[in-house]
Amino acid sequence: MATRPLPPEVPTLPRISDYPAYWAARTPDAPAFSGHGRTWAYAEAAAEVDRVAAALWRAGVRPGARVAVLSVPRVEAFVSFLATARLGAIWVGINPRYTVREIGVLLADARPSLIASISDFEGRAFPPDIDAALDATGLWADRPVRVVLGPGEASGYLPWEEFLAAGAEADAGEVGRAVAAVTADQPALIVYTSGTTGTPKGALLRHSGLVRLGIVEAREFRVPPAPRYLGAAPLNHVGGVGDIAGVALVNGGYTAFRDRSDPDTFLDDLRAERISVVFTGPVILIRLAGLIDRTVLPDLEVIGWGGAPLPLATVRTLAEAGFALSTTYGSSEATVSVTYSDADADLETLATTVGRPDPELDVRLRAPDGTWVTDPGVEGEVTLRHPTVAAGYWNREDATAALFTEDGALRTGDIGVFTEDGNLRLVGRISEMFKSGGYNVYPREVELVIESHPHVRSAVVVSRPDPRWQEVGVCFVEPVAGASVDPDHLRDHARTGLANYKVPKDIIVLDTLPLLPNEKVDRQELKRRARALLDR
Ligand code: AMP
Repeated sequence: MATRPLPPEVPTLPRISDYPAYWAARTPDAPAFSGHGRTWAYAEAAAEVDRVAAALWRAGVRPGARVAVLSVPRVEAFVSFLATARLGAIWVGINPRYTVREIGVLLADARPSLIASISDFEGRAFPPDIDAALDATGLWADRPVRVVLGPGEASGYLPWEEFLAAGAEADAGEVGRAVAAVTADQPALIVYTSGTTGTPKGALLRHSGLVRLGIVEAREFRVPPAPRYLGAAPLNHVGGVGDIAGVALVNGGYTAFRDRSDPDTFLDDLRAERISVVFTGPVILIRLAGLIDRTVLPDLEVIGWGGAPLPLATVRTLAEAGFALSTTYGSSEATVSVTYSDADADLETLATTVGRPDPELDVRLRAPDGTWVTDPGVEGEVTLRHPTVAAGYWNREDATAALFTEDGALRTGDIGVFTEDGNLRLVGRISEMFKSGGYNVYPREVELVIESHPHVRSAVVVSRPDPRWQEVGVCFVEPVAGASVDPDHLRDHARTGLANYKVPKDIIVLDTLPLLPNEKVDRQELKRRARALLDR
């Protein structure tokens, strides 16, 4: 694979929200982002961030407050993130695929002082669902300001233009002092993850982490100057805000936002927007491989992926198509990427490892007894140290303490092993979390929803491989004595409380769940049975 030149140096500014003004002063006419037929040059983008920041201030958002935004990947949503961060407040993205129950759980945890939401998408109106979530969680007492983000209206919600116009009355001196006081180590973004209890925890991502991600990922991926990205990934995840729009912004590049990631239009979008760097999960790349090469997409130089491995056959097809390939491994809590593949990594290495650790992160593997693994070939939990990793979980002291080792290394929960040549191979996870179509699914959350059905005594969700989504959930259900459970009915029940990617693909009713001698459910046995479904 050709070795590409390093991209030009970009300075490490203290805050992610410093970059719009930085580029507005240098390349005011260069495009910053686009969506719904409009393009914002950097000068306009920086002014828009300031306008939204003033409006947020006027609406009562103060440093440390949370701003929750339910939106597809839209320019206004990303601008609202930068504006929130600029004030020293913390932005929380909510995925439009969430049900009322899921929205309520996040709002109850984040307790935002302002909620902005798109009015509707694909036939669903969101303000009534947000209000239902506020009803269910008793959050009206917090008096959150409600705003429609972008076009549309809703009862009780400020229209976007009215919200923006009111910002003209904000005290510019106050806003300026708040902006100046924001430090690099402050959180800018909350990304929710779940974990073993099924209750979401909000990882607090710092300005410095998002900035470092932008600098180092561009360098390691060898992205061209002013890279052009497609912003179709959800904005409630570090991938959409950090690895895509964030990396583009830090490097003076451009993000073309799209309402959703659609495999059927992805290729046309790449061509129409002259995208130079693709960063995505494996599902889309598996579909694109064989359809694209440098003649179909002359502007596309780099294809990067993360979140899950890419099959060797896909890696080979994309390499033969003439693209520079890069893979990376990171997590919301790490914020920055932990490893990157070498520019000249061979195909096998790209498909079976996540590359080499970023040398500044002190990446080390930890054995279950707490000692450090030093030899290649020996498994351990991946840990790392850096001042830019997550500041912990919002309002969750216990979970924050458990996120770090006694001596302060961040625990990823991933089990890895170093190869002889220093690349990291991921071999498993400590938690039961799995990835379906690029989305994290936490089995305990799914089990709790299924167990809320009166006929279910106990539910256990495990994953099995799936040709289309990489992994899908299989739910084993033990009914309460004497009750009968219909899997289709149970699936409908699950749909009322879970986003569609979390709903188990198979629901299997068993008289009793298999138990280990210690009376815990034998998950390994269930995993074997789930896998057998695929072979069937
Ligand atoms: P998230 O916090 O949603 O970004 O998920 C992070 C998790 O995704 C990591 O802890 C890993 O388990 C997994 N992951 C990230 N990148 C990769 C990769 N390149 N290959 C395999 N698993 C990955």
